[in-house]
Amino acid sequence: MRSVAVVGASLAGLGAARALRAQGFDGALTLVGAEPHPPYDRPPLSKAVLLGTAGPADLDLCDPADADLAAEWRLGVPATGLDRHRRSVLLADGTEVRADGVVVATGALPRRLPGPPLAGVHVLRTREDAAALRGALTSGPRVVVVGGGFIGAEAASACAALGLDTTVVEAAPLPLAGVLGAEMAAHCADLHAAAGVRLLCGTGVARLLGTGRVRAVELADGRRLPADTVVAGIGAVPAADWLAGSGVAVADGVVCDGGGRTSVPGVVAVGDVARWRTPGGSVRAEHWTAAVEQPAVAVRNLLAGATVAEYRRPPYFWSDQYGVRVQFAGRRAPGDTVRVVEGDPAQRSFAAVYERAGAAAAVLAVDRARAFTRLRRTLTA
Ligand SMILES: Cc1cc2nc3c(=O)[nH]c(=O)nc-3n(C[C@H](O)[C@H](O)[C@H](O)COP(=O)(O)OP(=O)(O)OC[C@H]3O[C@@H](n4cnc5c(N)ncnc54)[C@H](O)[C@@H]3O)c2cc1C
Repeated sequence: MRSVAVVGASLAGLGAARALRAQGFDGALTLVGAEPHPPYDRPPLSKAVLLGTAGPADLDLCDPADADLAAEWRLGVPATGLDRHRRSVLLADGTEVRADGVVVATGALPRRLPGPPLAGVHVLRTREDAAALRGALTSGPRVVVVGGGFIGAEAASACAALGLDTTVVEAAPLPLAGVLGAEMAAHCADLHAAAGVRLLCGTGVARLLGTGRVRAVELADGRRLPADTVVAGIGAVPAADWLAGSGVAVADGVVCDGGGRTSVPGVVAVGDVARWRTPGGSVRAEHWTAAVEQPAVAVRNLLAGATVAEYRRPPYFWSDQYGVRVQFAGRRAPGDTVRVVEGDPAQRSFAAVYERAGAAAAVLAVDRARAFTRLRRTLTA
């Protein structure tokens, strides 16, 4: 393999470039990125950036050693196609990058609320999204956050810390119940109320009201919530449209084996865009740690031309909200027995283990980092 193109120049893409060099690849390396910025970190966007305690310079992922990557950076130019026969990545500016190997690391795009675009309606994925939302929050608006998942909860938490009138709307009976199970999700839902944030569950958004600028959110049950700013935290879709017609199989993410190899030889996929086969089924992780850890495995397989390594770590993510850190690792399934093993949910500090057939299947901690680290090891084992 004489040349590799990494498409998507963010967390997973940078990790792939580093892994290629670390594993001895000394051919031509090109990183293609749709955004004009060098790789930056996204988790602070919904936390410190909204609070105004971090700015763009604090997000940089590159360090001085990355100069040794000797890579060609094609930033601000999205890839528009992959021609597997010519082994070439086509770019929006009409140029192409010829490459024997391709790493797909194009991440995900935020889902948007249906309807015509209205001023005051925000998503949160990029530096620009966070800057725009932060700007809107400084004028003291009434905020409605649509979606009570992690990004919605973090945005609501930042709004509450800024003293804003904040409502979270969640279509499901309880936010995060699918991930954490109803009992533990209820403890996380309590965090909203404790911070003075209204949480409205079990009703979706019917439409946004306003001409040119959002004025209110109308719920499916007819209620109208006045809003100056709306944040859509309703998930993200894999950025894989550019692969249409390439032969790379896509089904809610680029379909990969347990080592990141796709249906096309010489093409691997990593990070939020990738759906890897795991012992628990096929999973698109959408977590920072997976985007950091998958590239070394995928690159090894790319260079070997075969699946010689698989990624087997249980999924892990964290979320910082309302002054506590929520951490979760493993895979919960319906029917798991969940036990609080340390602390007290009423005190907003506890660790819980999900058990299946007598073994730990997942671990949750709220503001209990040391217990979490200890319990997580039992999962890995
Ligand atoms: C606001 C926010 C907060 C988060 N907080 C946490 C957290 O607390 N904990 C946690 O575990 N995870 C968190 N995450 C998730 C974590 O940031 C992601 O899992 C991680 O960014 C995935 O990295 P990635 O490189 O796969 O994708 P991305 O970071 O999405 O990067 C993909 C890159 O590819 C580019 N791209 C897209 N299409 C093309 C194309 N056609 N051609 C070229 N380039 C393209 C994109 O512009 C982007 O720069 C958060 C995510 C967000 C958005």
